[in-house]
Formats: sequence, C-alpha cells, structure tokens
Amino acid sequence: MTLEKIVKLSTYQKSIAKHVNKYATEGNWKDYTWQLKHSIQDVDTFEKLTEIKFTDKEHEEFKKTVSKFPMSITPYFASLINKENYENDPIFKQAFPNPSELKISRYDMSDPLHEDKDSPVEGITHRYPDRVLFLVSNRCSMYCRHCTRKRKVGDSDHILSKEQILKGINYIKNNRKVRDVLLSGGDPLMLPDDFLDWILTELRKISHVEIIRIGSRMPVVLPYRITNELVTMLKKHHPIWLNTHFNHPRELTHSAREALRKLADAGIPLGNQSVLLATVNDCPRIMKKLNQKLVQNRVRPYYLFQCDLSEGLSHFRTPIGKGIEIIESLIGHTTGLAVPTYVVDAPGGGGKIPIMPNYLISYSTNKVILRNYEGIITTYHEPDSYEPIFCERNCNECSLLLKLDEADETKAIGIEKLLTDANSETSLVPNGNSRLERRNQ
Ligand SMILES: *Cc1c(COP(=O)(O)O)cnc(C)c1O
Repeated sequence: MTLEKIVKLSTYQKSIAKHVNKYATEGNWKDYTWQLKHSIQDVDTFEKLTEIKFTDKEHEEFKKTVSKFPMSITPYFASLINKENYENDPIFKQAFPNPSELKISRYDMSDPLHEDKDSPVEGITHRYPDRVLFLVSNRCSMYCRHCTRKRKVGDSDHILSKEQILKGINYIKNNRKVRDVLLSGGDPLMLPDDFLDWILTELRKISHVEIIRIGSRMPVVLPYRITNELVTMLKKHHPIWLNTHFNHPRELTHSAREALRKLADAGIPLGNQSVLLATVNDCPRIMKKLNQKLVQNRVRPYYLFQCDLSEGLSHFRTPIGKGIEIIESLIGHTTGLAVPTYVVDAPGGGGKIPIMPNYLISYSTNKVILRNYEGIITTYHEPDSYEPIFCERNCNECSLLLKLDEADETKAIGIEKLLTDANSETSLVPNGNSRLERRNQ
C-alpha cells in the first residue's frame, strides 16, 4: 500500500467534503477534477463549506470585492484554514478576498512589470536576451489574492487557443537566442495532460531550446493534480524544471510533500518562489522554517519576491527593509541552500533586481574589508600581482581556451558593457538628460 492511501483526511476535510455532497468519498476528495469542479467561487458557498460565519456588513463588503477581483479556492486549500482564528490565518489571507483590495493606492499599476508592453506575440513576454516567459494558460485552481497578474484573473478572453499557442511556439522557433522557456500563466498544470504534452513536444522539436521551466502552484493549492500520469508525461521532455510557490510552512502538508516527492523522483529539479506578504510571512522565523522545510523536501528556495505594485495589493506590501532583515536572518544562520535570492521585480519592465544586506564594508587597493553574519569584521588581502587578460571578446585568440561554439555571442549590454575592455564608452546616460540636451543646442 502506498503512503498516500494510509493518510486519512482530517476531520475538517471530511466535514467540508460532506457539505459539498453528503455522499462524497475520500477518493472524491483526492481526485483533482472533483476539487476543481467544487472550487469555492462565492462567499455563500465559502460560509457553507467552511462553517465560518460573517456579519451582514462583512458579507456585503466581500461580495463587492469579489465582483472586482473574482475568488476561487480549492476545497483542499480551504481545509487548511484554522477556522477558530481565521482572521489571522495565513491560508485564509492568501485565498479569501479582503475589501482592502479595492483601495488603489497612489503608485499602484495594473501592469507594473510591463509584461504586456514587452510582448511580441500574445502570451510571450521577451524581457531577457536568452529566455522568454510563455503564458500558456490563464486559469488557476486558486486565485491568490496577492497575484501580480490580478488584471487578468478570471478573464476568460485570455484563455489561449491552440492556434494562439502555436504563434508563441513559432516566435520561439524563429528566435535562436531563446534557450530557456518558462511556461507560466495562470497555471500551466490547469491544462489537460495531453495538451501540455503537445506544447512540450513542440518546444522540444526546437533545437535551440535547452531547458523548459514550469511555474505552478499546484503542489501548494491542489497537490492531487500531481498524478503519476502527469509526472510520467513530464519525464519524457527532460530537462524540465519546476518552480512552485509556497509562502508559509503550514502549506507543506502531507499531501503537498507527497506531490513534491513524485516530482523530485521523476528527476524534475524543484525550486520555490515565495512572495513576501505583510501579516502572512513577514517574519524571519516563519521564513527560516519555510525554507528549511522546502530543502527537506528537495525544493531549492529560488526567489523571495518583494510584493509588486499591482493594483489591490497595498495591504500585502512590506517595506524592502523587511526583506533585507529576513535575508540577514538566513545567511550564515542556516543551510546556504535554504537561502533564496531576494528580488524586486522592477516596475516598468526592468526585470528582477537582487537585494542583499551589505557585507562589503570598505576596500583599499590591496585589502577588502568584509563582515560576516555574526558581525565579525575581517580582511581579505587582494593578490599582490594579477595579470589582467585584456579581453577583446575574441575567444579564438584567447589563452583561456573556450571553444568558440560555446562562447556566448551576445553583445555586452548595460553595466557588463562598461566593464568590458573592448568597449570605450564610459557612461550610461538616461534619455532626456538636460545637461547633454543643452550641449546639443
Ligand atoms: C522572471 C522572469 C524570467 C526568468 O528569470 P530568471 O531570473 O531566469 O528566473 C524571464 N522572463 C520574465 C519576463 C520574467 O519575469
């Protein structure tokens, strides 16, 4: 008998299941299609299934919020709520509408990351030189209240047809520089296995696509979606990586861990992208526990995101200082593998910008002064002699013996360009610099 059969449903899970249908079985509960079919999409159903009761005034406010930003919660995820203290519950806060979502604050934007502006064909965001984001599904099993793509949530116009997806695939085919494709959405695992199989097969036919990554929150909100059939299909298309989205240690239930085990056993390297959320996980202890538990389940914490400037998220935002404090509490204090990179996704489409506490204190021409996590200040002596290799970006002539066909041909841009020997420019000047405009007059 497999482990998943031994583990019984909790009392609360049984009670929710009975409220859905009094003949519901344990088999129904663990069937992801049953879970999807009975996703909670309105406040009344939520009250009925969870036995949480709101006042008439609250009820009214929640309904108003749902009419702007729709809700969808899998019975499984709802069953993780602590109903005795739901107001403070991290699961409840990520899943259930909050009237604060209707407050649009001054710097909020509908598409802060300019994903739509950086989109050459529908569904593709091409921001970085060698990889693309490919939104292949606009559906999710649960609508996270902190979704950065809130503008699209529940928007059925955005469900892509096979023809539209082919346009994206053709774009990738015609851009030899794209060596990494990130399938996202929505949740790509909302697609039926055979449809996803088709997309992966088409992508695998493109010789310059080296890796495919899937971004999915299914292991967290609907772990039963990770079936043996799914992982058997995914395995055919290696190298496949999967990044998921745990935000709180309470989400690592037995079922979630079982889903992660199946994926990892199928040879899929797992990563996690958390979002720093006020009153959910803005605590160094919670984040340490979360990241340690992830590593224990063979998931490598990848990014910790600063909450984006999307509309309706202001109540979730923390200052960046909170993220720095959390990273400070992790580096050195726990396993290096349990430390994600803290990033701000730059408004305006600038991409992810890593943020770190400062470890570099000062330097001279021969010494670098550093501090460690304990506050010890230390000195690194620079080498007495170092012969810089003047780089003309001509790998054929270079003594480092990189084969030409393995050298990255892309032009140096940005700060990298300022650092290259072969470049004579010494500055990057913003558009519309008024001093330089005066010179031109
Ligand atoms: C995050 C992101 C990527 C991938 O970034 P990595 O740092 O390689 O994980 C690619 N494209 C877009 C538009 C993104 O937002």
